[in-house]
Amino acid sequence: MSALSHDIGPLSGAAPVKQGNYPCLILNADYQPLSYFPLSLWSWQDAVKAVFLDRVNVVDHYEQCVRSPNFEMQMPSVVALKDYVPQNRSPAFTRFNLFLRDGFKCAYCQSPHELTFDHVIPRRLGGKTSWTNIVAACSTCNLKKGGRLPRDARMHPSTTPLQPSMHQLQSQGRRFPPNHLHDSWLDYLYWDVELKP
Ligand SMILES: [Zn+2]
Repeated sequence: MSALSHDIGPLSGAAPVKQGNYPCLILNADYQPLSYFPLSLWSWQDAVKAVFLDRVNVVDHYEQCVRSPNFEMQMPSVVALKDYVPQNRSPAFTRFNLFLRDGFKCAYCQSPHELTFDHVIPRRLGGKTSWTNIVAACSTCNLKKGGRLPRDARMHPSTTPLQPSMHQLQSQGRRFPPNHLHDSWLDYLYWDVELKP
């Protein structure tokens, strides 16, 4: 395993959302989620603040109310930004996004276990730490390949590693739905996302 953690950012994933927190789904101005993975969520406090700052339209809400001496409102469950945030930026080269691109599977044997990263062309032979030269690899395959070229190790990644577009990562992300989905969110997510109890 290489010292990749020095080259790209720390592993970061979606914080688990508990049902009692009244998380709010954030839609872009086109009513698509800002992000599928991690799903774009705000705390109810941030959602209420954004409503008061007039930055969002409330699309749906929880039954529960938030009260203060001066006001009362139902807690937003879905809000849409008033200003569109462009989505054509390229995804950050992070460990998490790389695993997501590769579907959390080893590029050599498809195992989802003990994932590490492999330089397809080893660093000692000039291989770069980049989207096009790093693949997810289980520790067994990583060890087996050692510091060799694919042809020398007779181990080739099942797909050619490429820089993914944001759209490609988003559609990968739909395969890994978050733990908690409020039913008011489902109209704004993909058809095949399942509602879990
Ligand atoms: Zn493997």
